[in-house]
Order: sequence, then structure tokens, then C-alpha cells
Amino acid sequence: MEVLVREPDYLDVLADGTVKQLNPFTGTEVWTVPGRGNRPLGLRPAEPQPLAPDEHGRHCAFCERRYLETPPEKSRLVRHGEVWEQHDATPANQLLDEPAEFRRVPNLFEILSYDYWHANYGYELSAEIAARREAYLAEPEGLRHVLAVVEAKLRASGRSADEIARLTLEEKLEAASGFFGGGHDVIIARRHFVDGATDDTQLASSGTLTKDEHRRFLAFTVDAALRLYETNRYARYVSVFQNWLKPAGASFDHLHKQLVAIDERGTQVEQTLARLRGNPNIFNDAAANFASRRNLMIAENDHAIAFAGFGHRYPTIEIYSRSEQSDPWRHTPEEIDGVSDLLHAMHAATGPDVPCNEEWHHRPIDVREAMPWRIMLKWRVSTLAGFEGATKIYLNTIDPFLLRNRVVSQLFALRSLGHIAQDLRIATECECAPNPLRYAR
Ligand SMILES: [Zn+2]
Repeated sequence: MEVLVREPDYLDVLADGTVKQLNPFTGTEVWTVPGRGNRPLGLRPAEPQPLAPDEHGRHCAFCERRYLETPPEKSRLVRHGEVWEQHDATPANQLLDEPAEFRRVPNLFEILSYDYWHANYGYELSAEIAARREAYLAEPEGLRHVLAVVEAKLRASGRSADEIARLTLEEKLEAASGFFGGGHDVIIARRHFVDGATDDTQLASSGTLTKDEHRRFLAFTVDAALRLYETNRYARYVSVFQNWLKPAGASFDHLHKQLVAIDERGTQVEQTLARLRGNPNIFNDAAANFASRRNLMIAENDHAIAFAGFGHRYPTIEIYSRSEQSDPWRHTPEEIDGVSDLLHAMHAATGPDVPCNEEWHHRPIDVREAMPWRIMLKWRVSTLAGFEGATKIYLNTIDPFLLRNRVVSQLFALRSLGHIAQDLRIATECECAPNPLRYAR
């Protein structure tokens, strides 16, 4: 038995300033070479184009006057003053009655289709979902809506107008099964541009939402993840992510998150599980405590922490829930709000012109070990080159210390402006007590 075991140094600063990093969970090796990190980060916008008033609500297929271009809605949050309401399964003839602050709709092009689950697992629509489908199609507006979206999808998949015209009604409706029982949802925010925007550079991002809007967005997404597990008992994991701007993989510059039910846990989760089984406190030891000792903490509140991550291909802010509960949907509302406030602040500090991916990690449905809910915010500011492909050592232009300093200076300004949660403790205000994550208790 080995007795002299200790955690390796995940972060090594060499004499010339090169920072070598190792990811504790994935083993990813990353180097930051000095002198390359001070370039501006955001996309340099092309010449700003004024927004035409009659284009309002029609900029893209996610906008509020174009709800009929997305598949039948599963759920929406609407707001009347300070009162928020959730409406499920809004019928087609009421979709455009009022704008929704957030909507949950099926992705038109699913990563795993209804047919995948049906053919491979014998998955069928539950009685409840089949009844919802029937009710939707029983109304003329509902039927028209579904047929129009199916035809648009078939056209986009390369079917000719003749081929589509030859399909029977049954065949077209068959192609729409995923609209009701599919496992790939999109959560779409109301705004394309910020209120009062005058040109096309003023996009509405996660960070331009108010703190309270962001809380609703996050809680609505947590609920959507649970719904996907409930809808499909063959799902082992629900991947939740947000791609912001085209360089980060977004097809529209309109704020949205995606959830995809999959039938595997994924390599990264398996690697992490192997580490966790060796040391149940690994997320404190190799993440939170390590970050704290190396002065990488960015901010905290009573329910979450954020620090500059290490061993990532892109500069990454890591946000961890401190809850004793592993599953996000078993968090209290205050705990979800706490995670939301930190995530909102990190987006605001990042700024709307930086392409980024938000990746959620939570305990897969069939795992018993406790693990914290955590979110990685990755700045997509560099592109991989031949060196990476040849060596599997990744070059990152911003080291964790520089990342922390950039974000922290923004946070102080945002807090004094009142845009982010006021109870956020920033940088040296953080308690940095050992074992801040309570999942293993
Ligand atoms: Zn839009």
C-alpha cells in the first residue's frame, strides 16, 4: 500500500513566468507563456448597424414575434409587474398573446432524436405527453403550426418541395414526434437586444439580465433538467449548456440555454467519478481548497463560490454550489439563487462581447456518490493550433492569476453600480475557510 501520497501540484509557475497547469479531474495539461495575455478579449464588432423599428421582435427565429417558427412550447415564464407566472403547454392560438420572459421549446434539430430513443430503447410517449400532443393537434392553429414547423425542418434537411408535398399527413406528424416527447430543449430569453438598443452591437446577454431575471432563468433551467429525466427513464445524464456568440457555437446571437438528455454519462464524468471514489472530498481538496490556497478565489456568497480554474483549454471561471445536496433540483430556492447570483456576476464581468460556453456538471441520475453541482464558464478567446494537436499540451493565453485579476476588477465596479448581488464577497473579502463545499458531509 502506498503511504506517501499527496495531491500533485496542479499549478506550477516557472522562473520565466510560464504557468504550467494540470486539471485535477481530466488530466488536461495547459501552459501559459508570458506576454500573450493582454490582448483585448471581445469580438471586434463590424460597423454597428442601426436597428430598424419595424424589425423589433423579428431579428431571429427566437424573437417574440416569431414564436410560430419554433416547435410547440413546453413551458413559459411571463411577468406582470413583479408577479411571475409559469404557463405550461400554451396552445398555438395563444402563443403570441404576450411575450414570455423565458420559454422552453424543443430544439428543432435534436442531437438525439425521438427516433434514437424509440429505435434503440423502445421509448414511447407517456400517456400524459401523448394526450398533450393530441390536444395540440386537435386545434386547427396547433395542427397548422406543427405542419409548418415540420415542413421547414424537412426543407432545411435538404428535402425538395416535391418530396415534402408527397408526404401524407400521418408521415408529417410522425416526423413531429420529437416536438412532444423529445429530449433536447432550448430555454430562450425574451430579449435579442437590450431594452432601448439603437444598433446591432447591443446584444442582451446573461450578464445584461437583471440579477432577478437571471435567478428565474436559472431556476427554470434546473426545473427543465428534472423534467427531462422524468420524461425519459432511459436518460442517464442531462447535459446543460449555453453557447454565447458564433465562435462559441451559437447559431443565433439570441440568449438561450440548451438541455440534452443522453444515454451515457460521458467520458469526463467517468474520469471524475474515478477520482471521487478515491477521495470523497476531492472537490474540496483539488478544487476549492487548492484555489483558495493559491489565491484564485474570485467571489463567494453563502451558497456558492467562484474561482479561476486551472487545467482548462480556455480561460475558465468555475462556479460551485456549496449545498449539501448534489442534485440541483433538490437545492432550496435560496441555494439556487446563490448559484445564480455568482454566475450572473461572472457573466456580467465577462461582458457581452466575449464568446463563451457555460457548461453545467451535476451528478448523473444513476450515481450514488455525493458530488457538487458546478458550472464552468469558458471564454472562447483562443483557437487551437498544430502544437496542441501534436502534443496534447494546450496553450492558453490567459493564466488563472490574470483571469482572476481581470474578473475581480470588473466585479468591484459592477457591485458599486448595483448591477450584481450586493452580498457578494469579492477576492480578499472571501472567507476562504477550508472545505467550503458541503456535499460530502
Ligand atoms: Zn432574436
